[in-house]
Formats: sequence, C-alpha cells, structure tokens
Amino acid sequence: MRNAFLFLFSLGLAGCGPNGPSSPDVQTSPPPPSRAEWSLAVHGGAGHFDTEQLSSEEQAAYRSALAGALEVGGQVLNDGGSAVDAVIATIRILEDDSLFNAGRGAVYTAEGVHELDASIMRGEDRNCGAITGLRGFRHPIEVARSVMESSEHVFFSGHGAGVFAEAQGAEPAPEHWFDTAKARARYERALARDTSKEKFGTVGCVALDRQGHLAAGTSTGGMTYKRHGRIGDSPVIGAGTWADDRTCAISATGWGEYFIRTAVAHDIHGRMLHGGADLQEAADATIHDEMGALGGDGGIVGMDAKGQAVFSMNTPGMFRGSFMAGGSPKVGLFASDTLTP
Ligand code: ASP
Repeated sequence: MRNAFLFLFSLGLAGCGPNGPSSPDVQTSPPPPSRAEWSLAVHGGAGHFDTEQLSSEEQAAYRSALAGALEVGGQVLNDGGSAVDAVIATIRILEDDSLFNAGRGAVYTAEGVHELDASIMRGEDRNCGAITGLRGFRHPIEVARSVMESSEHVFFSGHGAGVFAEAQGAEPAPEHWFDTAKARARYERALARDTSKEKFGTVGCVALDRQGHLAAGTSTGGMTYKRHGRIGDSPVIGAGTWADDRTCAISATGWGEYFIRTAVAHDIHGRMLHGGADLQEAADATIHDEMGALGGDGGIVGMDAKGQAVFSMNTPGMFRGSFMAGGSPKVGLFASDTLTP
C-alpha cells in the first residue's frame, strides 16, 4: 500500500500524465472552467433587423419578453428540474407571446392558416420528439415532448400529429388564437409579392441541468406564406435541434431550407465529437463556412457540457439571452450586442 502511494506520489512530482512530462507552462496554466450548476440560453429568431427596423419600445418589449422567459426556465433549473422541463417551460412562455413566430404569434401559410412545427431532444440518451404541420394546439413544444416520452416514434406530421396531440390530451386552441395583427400584416405583404422569403421570430432554448444533462427545443410557425406541407429545419432533428451530453445542445433559427441542406445542429455536434472543436469554433464554422456559404442566413444558440452558452449568426440581428446559476438573465438583440441585464 505504502509503495503504491510512493509510486503515485513520484509520478505526480515528475508531472507524468497522459501528455508526458509537464513543462512549467502546463503547471501554471489556469484550470479548465468547471461546470455551471445549471445554465439556460434562448433565442427568439434571427433576421435582417437593426435599430432602424425596431423602435426603442419594440426593443424594450423583446428584451423584457426574453428576460421573463429566462427567469421562468431558470427557476425550473434552480429548483432541480430537468433540462427538458426548463426548455419546455421557457418555450411555453414564448409560444404564448405574440411577439414571436411560434404558438400565438405564428406566421400564416400561403393558404392563410397556421401550420406549426416543434422539436425537442435530450442529451442524456438522444431521445427526441418532433411534430410538423400541427394545427389547433396551443403549445406545439408540449406535443413534441409527448412524442418523445409517450410514443414509440420520434416524428409526427400533419393530420397524424393532430390525432396524436388530441389522444395525449394536449391543450387545443381555436384558429383565432393564432390570428395576430403582426403576422397578418406580414402575410398580406407576402401575398402581394407571392413570395415566402420573410421569416423570423422562431423560438428555441438550450439548457444544462444540475444533473449535468443537456436538452434543446425549437418551436415555430415556419416562414410566412410557406406552401401547404412545407417543412423547415425547426422540427428536423439534426438540422434545427440537437442535444448530446457528450458535446452540446443546439437550437437553430433562420432560412430552414439551408439549415436542412447543411444539417446545421448535427454538423456542429460532429465538429466537436470527431474534430475536437470547441462549441464556438464549431458553430462559427458551420454557420459561416457551410450554411452561409450556400447562401442561407440565420443563427444558433448552443450550450456545451459545462453550461457555456454560445451564439453564432450571419444576420444583423438575433433575439437572444442567457442565464446561469448565480447570475441574472442577460439579453441582446443585434449581432454586435454584448448581452446585458
Ligand atoms: N427556421 C424556420 C423555418 O425555416 C424559420 C425561422 O427560424 O425563423 O421554418
């Protein structure tokens, strides 16, 4: 026993570890950051907006909506709730807020209705659930959770998604619940031009809980004037949403076709898992060198296994925020913003 102790002790003195004899530099380098007790980050969509498009009242409204949602999700994590619970609680708030293109503020399809998409994934076992083209339910993210937890499948669409939601007792919402002046105005602009290019306001959330597990979720109405049955990236696991405790949790927002073509969320994970990149390097490479290089635009919110929130975008704006144990909610709207309380 004593010999074993002396042997280990001498190894320590010699500085022999997996990297061989240590240099003075290694001994003095700062310790790696420790894992946060819990951490949460959110986005409310990316797009081509700047101070000219958003009045100071609108900016204040977005800031307070994001901070309020972070408060709710942060409380769940602080109380010991799971990362999935926190993601759901945060997104529910944003789905009820007509500022955002999800739930109540969802955009209109070309036919003038609302077809909602949502997905959720947990990093512990990579189980996930998603729905697309859902109509008539208040919280699509809850339905996605039910798919993950109460079905043998991971993805339901259209009519089948509605049948499943009803069977699960999901809260219904009448069509007029989704009729908001802002989404209607966007629809009318798109109708006049017969184009579906306008999009932003999707919501997404990533979280790390006290148990060290990650989760990610995304909810959206998609793109204004999208054609019936069009599916964007938000409900597509690996494009709009991803979570794996070994690497990161990601929720994306932007021009969905490009995010699917470059499997954005999974590409970031792959750079970390197989290439050893850190989350910011991985996210920037995917957003700028892959998705952006094809002509797409948008961004992501991500969280690594230590609870560091990361944002990456190639648009002038992305509504976003983060909240970590021991801190307070911080938000930003424009790409150049540093997050502030
Ligand atoms: N990514 C969403 C979609 O293409 C839209 C958005 O994020 O604003 O459906």
